[in-house]
Amino acid sequence: MATKALVTGAGGFIGHHLVKYLQEKGYWVRGVDIKNPDFEPSDADEFQLLDLRLEDNCMQATDGVDEVYNLAADMGGIGYITASHADIARNNILINANMLEASRINKISRFLYSSSACIYPMYKQTEADVTPLKETDAYPADPEEGYGWEKLFTEKMCQYYLEDHGLETRSVRFHNVYGPIGTYDGGKEKAPAALCRKIALASDVDSIEVWGDGEQTRSFMYISDCVEGIFRIAQSDYRNPLNLGTDHLVSINELIDIISGIAGKTIDKDYDLTKPQGVRGRNSDNSLLRDVLNWEPGITLEEGLVTTYRWISEQTLVQSEKVVS
Ligand code: NAD
Repeated sequence: MATKALVTGAGGFIGHHLVKYLQEKGYWVRGVDIKNPDFEPSDADEFQLLDLRLEDNCMQATDGVDEVYNLAADMGGIGYITASHADIARNNILINANMLEASRINKISRFLYSSSACIYPMYKQTEADVTPLKETDAYPADPEEGYGWEKLFTEKMCQYYLEDHGLETRSVRFHNVYGPIGTYDGGKEKAPAALCRKIALASDVDSIEVWGDGEQTRSFMYISDCVEGIFRIAQSDYRNPLNLGTDHLVSINELIDIISGIAGKTIDKDYDLTKPQGVRGRNSDNSLLRDVLNWEPGITLEEGLVTTYRWISEQTLVQSEKVVS
């Protein structure tokens, strides 16, 4: 009989792709979200609309499944997560506390938690040429306000459920995931999607607004690497938090130049220094990931951005045709 998996946040970007991935692996998949996927129907064998802040709904979601991939979260890009600390912290702690308890009661064999690079201390991310972040750098703690503190605390809850109740938890610290079939406008989009949208909407010679001076740096992981990494970590015996990202550091200015090149457009940058830009630099140290999995994300930024830009530019075209007709 097929293994049964629950993917929470299956109406969101990573969850939607993970449902497809697990099905290709032969799983039976239940997707749960508070909303349907934005761009195409879910491939899940069963899709339930549930608010996972409520314990009864978490019990219903975890009923009869073997593995849980807990991706549901109130989250968005830097503009979104810096604007509402209280709501984000409250919504996410309710989802995660109730999902852990329901998974314990329903005797789930594996519980994968989607943590984030936002748990790393702000004091380690003050320079653009940042030293890549190792898992042990998380403490002494000084994470991103709201979203980052909640992620770090839930990592600890996963540890406690493992130690006290034997629930096999895995915590994965994602570093900036991008790709097609993800939010690209409306305020929750992240930098690669927002920049693809702005460049898609620009004329052949044009300028776009950039948040900050563009010299802030990040590493970016393509969605297919992300879902493969999630699966490999879930199946591994490694029980402590693990980075999942690439260690290829680029500035936002470089990211814009790559996307402009793919689009075949000449794009100038209008810097808005009043907009939030997050930490100055953030990169993933993948030494432990390589040791544990003998694998790491391999899709280059240039490859991943080709498919991402193509999808977002098609979407913007469809939207502008709708406006005209
Ligand atoms: P997303 O916003 O696209 O997906 C999250 C989904 O959770 C959404 O569809 C949302 O509707 C759902 N959700 C929110 N509140 C809910 C509730 N009360 N009940 C049920 N569902 C609810 O985000 P994503 O990019 O797919 O991220 C997935 C996970 O990975 C999240 O936990 C996020 O914090 C984490 N993460 C993502 C990134 C990234 O770069 N995308 C980086 C670090 C961590």
